[in-house]
Amino acid sequence: MLKSLLIANRGEIACRVIRTAKRLGLRTVAVYSEADRAAQHVRAADEAHPIGPAAARESYLRIDRIIEAAKKSGAEAVHPGYGFLSENADFAEACAKANIVFVGPPASAIRAMGSKSAAKALLEKTRVPLVPGYHGDDQAETKLAGEASRIGYPVLIKASAGGGGKGMRIVEQESDFAAALASARREAASSFGDDRVLIEKYLTRPRHIEIQVFADSHGNAVYLHERDCSIQRRHQKVLEEAPAPGMTPARRKEMGEAAVAAARAVGYRGAGTVEFIAEGERFYFMEMNTRLQVEHPVTEMITGQDLVEWQLRVASGEALPLRQEQIPLDGHAMEVRLYAEDPSKDFLPQTGTLHHLRFPETSGDVRIDTGVTQGDAIGIHYDPMIAKVIVRAGNREACARRLAQAMAEVEVVGLGTNAAFLKRLAEHPAFVRGEVDTGFLERYGDEVVPKEQPASDRVLALATLAKLDAISRAAAAARTTDPHSPWATSRGWRLNDEGLARLKWQDGERLIEVTAHFGADGYRLDLPGGSVAASAAVDGSRLAATIGGAALAASVVFRGEEATVFDDGASHRLGFADPTRRAVGDASAAGRLTAPMPGKLVQVLVKKGDTVEKGQPLVVLEAMKMEHTVKAPRAGKIAQVGYAAGEQVEEGASLVELEEKAQ
Ligand code: ADP
Repeated sequence: MLKSLLIANRGEIACRVIRTAKRLGLRTVAVYSEADRAAQHVRAADEAHPIGPAAARESYLRIDRIIEAAKKSGAEAVHPGYGFLSENADFAEACAKANIVFVGPPASAIRAMGSKSAAKALLEKTRVPLVPGYHGDDQAETKLAGEASRIGYPVLIKASAGGGGKGMRIVEQESDFAAALASARREAASSFGDDRVLIEKYLTRPRHIEIQVFADSHGNAVYLHERDCSIQRRHQKVLEEAPAPGMTPARRKEMGEAAVAAARAVGYRGAGTVEFIAEGERFYFMEMNTRLQVEHPVTEMITGQDLVEWQLRVASGEALPLRQEQIPLDGHAMEVRLYAEDPSKDFLPQTGTLHHLRFPETSGDVRIDTGVTQGDAIGIHYDPMIAKVIVRAGNREACARRLAQAMAEVEVVGLGTNAAFLKRLAEHPAFVRGEVDTGFLERYGDEVVPKEQPASDRVLALATLAKLDAISRAAAAARTTDPHSPWATSRGWRLNDEGLARLKWQDGERLIEVTAHFGADGYRLDLPGGSVAASAAVDGSRLAATIGGAALAASVVFRGEEATVFDDGASHRLGFADPTRRAVGDASAAGRLTAPMPGKLVQVLVKKGDTVEKGQPLVVLEAMKMEHTVKAPRAGKIAQVGYAAGEQVEEGASLVELEEKAQ
């Protein structure tokens, strides 16, 4: 077995590889960019080396610096993780040249599968079925258009060098072909520096089913069953599961053997994934990923194997740990990617600090792979994935239920996430029935994306109970330490003379007053929908509450003047209008508009002294490759414009200020 390993990656995958390497007794070496100095993967490794600035192309993509770190640390081997340099044949070669073991396939296999077109040309000679299409060298527009007509519309144009769904265009009819080709080529050229494309028959209701394969250097090659990754958004995976719904043993064997044949055709070694697109009874090769996949944990959950351990054993020259017939398939597993993004704003990526972060309790059946912890930030430089949540159960239905439950336990304060979206997905009746194909989210997206709802009475009651508890604790503490603190007096609360407290909550535009009448064992709360008896035992952010006789568990996290209520798998934010301080409403009424994330101002649409209407666009910020328009929260006069177009701004920078509202 190898003795030491450098992990040429970051985030959850670096942490995950380090975990197995340590268990196997390897010394682990991390590399990190300036932005990742205090990142979890750096802390987890035995030693860590800086490799450059935050931008990936100046650090995690720098072959020379990573090789140098490997030499300096004396690492025997390099694990590339996924993304970054994991499918870079030059990197595999550079490792070999420096006498470092590359934990992955030979450079020749990476090259052979690196181009979708070349891979298909190679597999044409095998029995692996291909999607009807054209993947030739002649890239003349007339040739491609002719091939598209021959294949029959709709067709899919794909970048040969593609990945991540880039450079992909669906073309419904001949008259759209030329424009789609031009735009696919543009995107391919800018993303991959290579504008070659291939054309495939576009399948209208396909499933994405991929096979995990493994090969060693002793001539053994096996498949570890399939994963169904049909739940996608813009051709990107959202949820993965194993086994695939409706898969029969005969079909599994057929696809598994086709995948192994594809791997053998390129002299494969290590972990790889052969992706198929399946429709009805038929399946076709799409591409092979010559690395460990993001979704490998679902395979680990149903086989009980550690695929990183397999990788390290194979890289050490050992034979595969199991023969084909020994590979278990037990139960059902699902994985979702918990992202910092806002599903209600077309999945806009979110950046910021994870002020509060709680994952579901882990067990043999619930696994969390993450590279962050509470207090860490999700920045603009890397993928905004917070964690992968993986669950297992005896069967698919129980697994979907367990997943929904796990997502309901996720709590994040500081930035928006897709947790509620993922929970609703796991609960969607069509998903539960196993009716999955790549069009699922297009079909049901509206039902799955959570809608912004006004705060329910239940949410208001929970926030009120938590706030009353916090107030009474603060009052008790103040009485003993500082008799002059505002909390030590009952002013504003008048608990003593009236036996009640009035709390004001800001719910979006609404200001809601909740009156709490103090009783012997709890409160009577006057809520918008009526009066209800309520009490709660509070432990940190956790509440064991009784509302109207019903017991429920929830969480309320306070951050400054804001309460986030986590209840029943949804979260709701409320502003607390503290009567002893300035009302919360005034913070936005003061009209200080700040940058939601670091970025570049591309347009400034107003100047000092302008009068604006509510909702009027003020500035346009470009961040994370998207444009965000900052609009006026109310009508008013512009008091200040902080920056000019073209300027770079930090998160929280004051972009525009409106004049104080006349009271
Ligand atoms: P990338 O490498 O950019 O991720 P893939 O070739 O892996 O691209 O395809 C990504 C996704 O696009 C697939 O999972 C599937 O949903 C869809 N797709 C690919 N090829 C086809 C096709 N011929 N017909 C319909 N959908 C397809």
